[in-house]
Amino acid sequence: MNQETINQVLHFRDERNWKQFHNPKDLAISISLEAAELLEVFQWSAEDVRCEDKMDKIREELADVLNYCILMADACGLDMDEIIREKVKKNAEKYPVEKAYGSKEKYTELKNGIID
Ligand SMILES: [Mg+2]
Repeated sequence: MNQETINQVLHFRDERNWKQFHNPKDLAISISLEAAELLEVFQWSAEDVRCEDKMDKIREELADVLNYCILMADACGLDMDEIIREKVKKNAEKYPVEKAYGSKEKYTELKNGIID
């Protein structure tokens, strides 16, 4: 995550003295609520795979989710790049390319796949 972007989000918070309200529980709730708003963009849509006409709303709600993620990481003293890299490593172990390539199965259901 770009440090300048993180600093901008934290500066926005600090200018308003909102850090006092940003405990991990309420930030986790906020992430979930904003993720639900992102999902709402697709509610009752018959064309879920097409989103060209929804991009403005998607940009806004995705940014809300990411802003709260930055605030949550800060509140918990976590480095976003570090935790993302750790998770990618764990996922790579759960989903080895030779088994997961082209498969949408959960890691517990993966067979011994073969890459063509
Ligand atoms: Mg929102």
